[in-house]
Amino acid sequence: MGQRAAKICMLTITDFINILHCYYKSPLVQMYELESHKIETWRGDSFQNVFLQYSNHFLISISPEASLFEATYSLLKHKIHRLPVIDPESGNVLHILTHKRILKFLHIFGKKVPKPAFIRRQIQELGIGTFRNIATVQQMAPLHEALAIFVERRVSALPVVDEQGKVVALYSRFDVINLAAQKSYNNLDMTMLEAVRRRVCFVEGVIKCYPYETLETILDRIVSAEVHRLVLVDRADVVRGIISLSDLLQAMVLSPAGIDTLLS
Ligand code: AMP
Repeated sequence: MGQRAAKICMLTITDFINILHCYYKSPLVQMYELESHKIETWRGDSFQNVFLQYSNHFLISISPEASLFEATYSLLKHKIHRLPVIDPESGNVLHILTHKRILKFLHIFGKKVPKPAFIRRQIQELGIGTFRNIATVQQMAPLHEALAIFVERRVSALPVVDEQGKVVALYSRFDVINLAAQKSYNNLDMTMLEAVRRRVCFVEGVIKCYPYETLETILDRIVSAEVHRLVLVDRADVVRGIISLSDLLQAMVLSPAGIDTLLS
């Protein structure tokens, strides 16, 4: 694990968010300078503080010989969303594993093996997901507030809510890619509603679920919608929780093997 750290580096949207968040707090540095920066600048001395603060310092990877169980364990233990599969001989990256790929595989091939009885139980009974202290963002809040929440809470998506706490959209870390694609990252004062409206790249809609639904229903919905999380709401659409692929992999793969939750 991580043997090739000196050669290969991962730069993801989370790094871009960290840089934007840092820049926005610093009035001494002009945001437009970002465009001329090279990746080596970002990894260099002037941004060391950003990386020292937020990154793991070593690349987490897995060998193609490793099991899907080990891959799941690594994704959840390190709280990462992408796991490079690296050939130990050549050091080449062969594939990038994600929660979505693993769950989809289990869903397709799991049909051939008997399902555990607990998947017919209600999600509220099983307690799979996060139901307290959900990070949300108000629809009229500025976009930089969402970026600050991403950095501080390290969550991967925020339900966008109205004054009553009803979900109106979902804004994920991935959506920040739109700011780069449209070069609109100088305008972090736009409201969340505006940011949601302007998205064009691979928009993940807000897919809801309810506490009385079974785990089986939730698995079918999240796999067929190809999303990373469902927003748990009550009958009035008020946000009550988040059920993400991490929660489902913990419940379906790690917990049955006796590994207590790696999620906090
Ligand atoms: P994820 O990074 O989406 O795979 O989720 C990792 C853990 O964070 C899971 O236990 C989720 O239920 C939880 N989580 C995801 N989004 C939020 C949020 N907005 N507020 C609180 N917890 C969250």
